[in-house]
Amino acid sequence: MCDLQKTKISLMVNGINIDDKAMQYIKKQFGERYYNNDYVTTTGLMIDLGNNYYVTSRLEKKSSNLLTLNKKRFFLKQGNKTKSVSLWTPWWVKVKNISKNYQKVLDTNIVNAHFDRARISPITGCNNHCCFCSQNAEKYKKNSIKDMEKNLKIILKDDRINHVLISGGSPKICDLKYLTKVYEHFCKKFPKYEFDVMTMPRGFDSYTDRSQYYDYLKHLKDIGVKGLSVNLELYDRKICSKYCKEKYVIGRDNYFYFLKIAGEIFGSHHVRSGLIVGLESEDSTLKAVEKICECGCMPMLSPYVPYKNIGSYPSLELLYDVYNKSQKIITDHNLNLAPLCVKCKHNTL
Ligand code: SF4
Repeated sequence: MCDLQKTKISLMVNGINIDDKAMQYIKKQFGERYYNNDYVTTTGLMIDLGNNYYVTSRLEKKSSNLLTLNKKRFFLKQGNKTKSVSLWTPWWVKVKNISKNYQKVLDTNIVNAHFDRARISPITGCNNHCCFCSQNAEKYKKNSIKDMEKNLKIILKDDRINHVLISGGSPKICDLKYLTKVYEHFCKKFPKYEFDVMTMPRGFDSYTDRSQYYDYLKHLKDIGVKGLSVNLELYDRKICSKYCKEKYVIGRDNYFYFLKIAGEIFGSHHVRSGLIVGLESEDSTLKAVEKICECGCMPMLSPYVPYKNIGSYPSLELLYDVYNKSQKIITDHNLNLAPLCVKCKHNTL
């Protein structure tokens, strides 16, 4: 593992402290809203470490990672090592210069962006109740296509954005058809952008009726969806039942069945499945990595971010080990660790 990957992992787990001089300069450049205030896994300062390494690092006064400023250049101090880094100008700073009233209309429950990818949320909140997730703290609400489109158009004024994720929360069964309508609308209306969809295994109107999976996935491909994120999260059945009840009920067999078909229809490099590293044993995570690869899809590894006093950040040693062992499994299957977009790796291993 290279030094930059280690630096990135440390910033994900330990966060970043900003000294006063650097802070004053950041606020002068970006304003009071200088970091992305979002879900627990996506909140923080967006940093470009160089050589195609990007990270979102939460602000943590006690962190041993210190951001300093010298002659208008930022430096990251880690122990006795110092490295020059850049900050990613947040999209709202870019957009502000174009659209003065953007703050009046922009709702980050509906759209947000991290580096070069925008995110649309057709559902605010989530019908699931995964214990570690801050998204379901919001009240469940279906967002209208009109509102999503209005907000997306504003965020796309940041011309660095080149792809879009239509994200969770997960819809109620009665809203499954609405989500399909949303996918159809955006893929057709914005053909310039690649759209990925985050979804649980599902058909047209059911999560568990496997007989619909093939036709539904074909439909998504036909309407122009480019890729899928079908996040298993946890492999261990007991732990999954504790932390992700609804995903447990759908069952990992349905996840693997859905992933296998999705890999065949979309191609291996367009289907990923996210795993949380640090809430279950290393052995379980690695089994999941193997199973996802056997389905012909790409595993994605997300270090656990503690929420509501559940668990703690995984150790650096565990993350290094899971990363190295997973890379070996994935390479043996001729696959890649997801996501493929280097900037979208800002919060994954
Ligand atoms: S399904 Fe996804 S968005 Fe919904 S609660 Fe679980 S982790 Fe959060």
